[in-house]
Amino acid sequence: MVSSVQNVVLVTGGSRGIGAATARLASERGYAVAVNYFREKKHAEALVAEIQQGGGTALAVQADVAQQPDVAAMFDQVEATLGPIRALVNNAGITGKRGPLVHAAPHEIRRVLEVNVLGVIWCAQEAVRRMSHRTEGGVIVNLSSGAATIGSPHTYVWYAASKAAIDGFTLGLAKEVAPEGIRVVAVAPGIVTTDIHEQSGVAPQLEQLAAGIPVGRLGTPEEIAQMILWLLSEEASYTTGAIFRVAGGR
Ligand code: NAP
Repeated sequence: MVSSVQNVVLVTGGSRGIGAATARLASERGYAVAVNYFREKKHAEALVAEIQQGGGTALAVQADVAQQPDVAAMFDQVEATLGPIRALVNNAGITGKRGPLVHAAPHEIRRVLEVNVLGVIWCAQEAVRRMSHRTEGGVIVNLSSGAATIGSPHTYVWYAASKAAIDGFTLGLAKEVAPEGIRVVAVAPGIVTTDIHEQSGVAPQLEQLAAGIPVGRLGTPEEIAQMILWLLSEEASYTTGAIFRVAGGR
C-alpha cells in the first residue's frame, strides 16, 4: 500500500539486472524510484526514461557505494529531488573473476569486500540516520546470496564471505533499529540470469549449474524483485531481521 505522499525508494545498482527489475516493479507499485549506478549511465538513464514514459517518477544518480562521501551525496541528491527516502534496496554488488582463492588478485578481493560489505554499510548508515528522525520509519532490504551458505568453492569464496557478512549485518541492524520503526531484511537469491555471470566468467557453466537446482532452471531478476517489493510493503510490517532465500530450492 502506498500512501498519498509518494514513497521514495533508492535502489543501489539499479541500472541493470535485479536492481533494474526492482526499480521497474517499484514504479509499477507507485514508488518514486532513485536508480543508482556506478559506470553505466546510459542504462540508468534509459531505465529512468522508460519509467517516466510509463507515467512514473524516477531519477538516475551516480555514486560508487564503496565511497562513503559518494553515498552521503547520493542520499542528499535523492532527497532534494524526490523527497524523504522511505526504502533502501542495497543491491549493488560484484563478484570479481571466478577461480580458486590462491589465484585471486588481492586488489580484486579488496574491491569485492569494499563494494559488497562497506557499500551496504555506508548506505544503511545513511538511511538509518535519515529514517530514524521520521515518524513513519522505513525499510532496508539488503541483497545477500545463496553463496553465503554454500560458500562458492573454486568460484569466488571471497564473494561468499562478503554475503555472509551481509547476513550478520542484517540480523544485528534489524534489532538495533526496530524501536525506531525501521525494518531490515535480506534476500538471498540463487543463480539469476543477469550480467554478473559474464563479468565473473561463470556464464559458460550456468546451464550445467541449472541441473543442480531442484526446480531445474535459473531464476529471473523479476522473481527476485517480487520478493523485494513484498518486503518493502506493508504486508511485511511484522517482518524484520530475517533472510529470505529465493533460489529454486538450492
Ligand atoms: P549486475 O547485473 O551485474 O548489476 C550490478 C549492478 O550493481 C549494476 O547496476 C552496477 O552499476 C552496480 N554496481 C556495481 N558496482 C557498484 C558500485 N561500486 N557502486 C554502485 N553501483 C555499483 O548484478 P545482479 O546480478 O543484478 O546482482 C545484484 C545483487 O544481487 C548483487 O548484490 C549480487 O551479489 C546479488 N546476487 C546476484 C545473484 C545472481 O545470480 N545474479 C545471485 C545472488 C545474489 P553499473 O551498471 O553502473 O555498472
